[in-house]
Amino acid sequence: MRRLLVAGNWKMNGSKEQAKQLVSALVQGFDASGQADMALCPSAPYLGYVSGLLEGSAIQLGSQNSSEHSAGAYTGETSVSMLMDLGCRYAILGHSERRTLFAEGSEQVAAKFEVAKAAGLIPILCVGEALAEREAGETLKVVSAQISAVLERMGSQAFVDAVIAYEPIWAIGTGKTATPEQAQDVHAAIRAQVAEADAEAAAKLQILYGGSVNAGNAEALFAMRDIDGGLVGGASLKADDFLAICQANCR
Ligand code: PEP
Repeated sequence: MRRLLVAGNWKMNGSKEQAKQLVSALVQGFDASGQADMALCPSAPYLGYVSGLLEGSAIQLGSQNSSEHSAGAYTGETSVSMLMDLGCRYAILGHSERRTLFAEGSEQVAAKFEVAKAAGLIPILCVGEALAEREAGETLKVVSAQISAVLERMGSQAFVDAVIAYEPIWAIGTGKTATPEQAQDVHAAIRAQVAEADAEAAAKLQILYGGSVNAGNAEALFAMRDIDGGLVGGASLKADDFLAICQANCR
């Protein structure tokens, strides 16, 4: 049985004070013997601070992005070695906000994925379709192309020790959630695609759902066969909601 992972994407929100209060409530309330691991992904300037707050707890740290370059003249970028130095275990890559607002294409995302993995960071590869693509019946085509970019670059072992997050863009930050059945259909297709390359990696692969996950819908989503937790934006900024999502009793 795959363990659940619930990762909180704080996006560009918060302050030191808010981080301190939120992390302190999460450290106090998180039950590591439950069904889910928890990871927090604050924005880059707070990674070191949050890392210190998490010391001695079972909660993991992740970044919201990482550079495809290892070092040098890349103003404003953060390398994977810096992230690991700060205690990161995960890196969210290819989030739809990076793809749409910062023009990251699938090839660039695949390059970031390769560099992160080579350094020992666990990439959380985000994939997902826009509303118009869903309405045009293109969901699986879009998602499959995003995954193929990584498989083509890295070969069949690409998703060993990696995580995929299926995040339909129309459900992110909108309060609209894919139904558990809609999400399950896409998750099953993702697992089947990875299984064509490596059946063992596919069986072990954690595939998270993201898109307006909250304390009220987490249980039904996480109960689906191929949904192994969530990537959570808005609700990860509220300790009670995020703890309730992590402790959803679904398996
Ligand atoms: C996200 O940004 O990855 C996300 C899923 O956001 P929200 O939970 O707010 O929809």
